[in-house]
Amino acid sequence: MIRVGIYNENVHEKLDENVAMVYPEGIHGQLAAFLGAEEDMEIVRCYTLETINDITEEELTGIDVMLWWGHMAHHKVEDEAVQKVKNAVLMGMGLIVLHSGHHSKIFRSLMGTTCNLTWREDGDFERVWVVNPAHPITRGIGRFFYLPEVETYGEPFAIPEPDEVVFIGGYEGGEVFRSGCTFHRENGRIFYFQPGHETFPIYYDPNVQTVIKNAVRWANPVFRSQALDCPHVEKPGKD
Ligand code: ZN
Repeated sequence: MIRVGIYNENVHEKLDENVAMVYPEGIHGQLAAFLGAEEDMEIVRCYTLETINDITEEELTGIDVMLWWGHMAHHKVEDEAVQKVKNAVLMGMGLIVLHSGHHSKIFRSLMGTTCNLTWREDGDFERVWVVNPAHPITRGIGRFFYLPEVETYGEPFAIPEPDEVVFIGGYEGGEVFRSGCTFHRENGRIFYFQPGHETFPIYYDPNVQTVIKNAVRWANPVFRSQALDCPHVEKPGKD
C-alpha cells in the first residue's frame, strides 16, 4: 500500500461559497476520495492550515507520498513545518505539488527559485499535451486531454530546468506552460502539476485523476534514508 498524505490549506472553501459548492468536503476531501478508492493507496491523513504546523517527523515517516495544495495561506505555514517536510522529501518521501502550490514555501525551497509565472483567470480552456508518452505519469492518457475551464498559467515559469517535462498546457489565449514537470531532490521525487484552480471542478476530471494517481505511484519511494548526515566511514575491506 502506498501511504498518502494530503495537505490542502482549506481556506477558499471556508471564505467563498462558490468554492464550497464545488468542493463541499474541501479540495483535500475530493483528492482523498478518488485516491482512497485505489486498491494500492491508503490515505493516512489530510492536513489543513489548522493542523499542518503541528506535523511531526514521525508522522512524515509514515507517509510515502504527500500532495500539496495551497494558495492564500502559504505564508501561514511555519518554516519549522516546511523544514520537516523538506527533510522528509530529501530522505525519500514523494511530493506532488498542485496548481497554486507553485508559490508554496515547500516548493520554492526545494526549487531554489521564485517559481513565479504569469496568470489570467478568464475561464479559458486548456489542452494538456503529453510530451513524454513513455513516462509512467502519462499512462492511460492519449495525445492530450481537454479541460473546458481553467485558470491560465503562462511562461516564463521560474523553475530550475526540470528533470523531465511530462505535459505542456496550451490555452485558449495561445499561452503555453510546462504543466507537468518532474524533479529529483536527493532521494525524493517531486511532480508539479498545473491544473486545479479552486473555482473549477478540475479534481473531478477523470484525466486529471489519472495523472495524479499515476504521479502518486511514480513518486512512491524506492529508498528512504534514515537521516540526513554526512558520516565518516572506515576504508572497506575485501569483502
Ligand atoms: Zn488558481
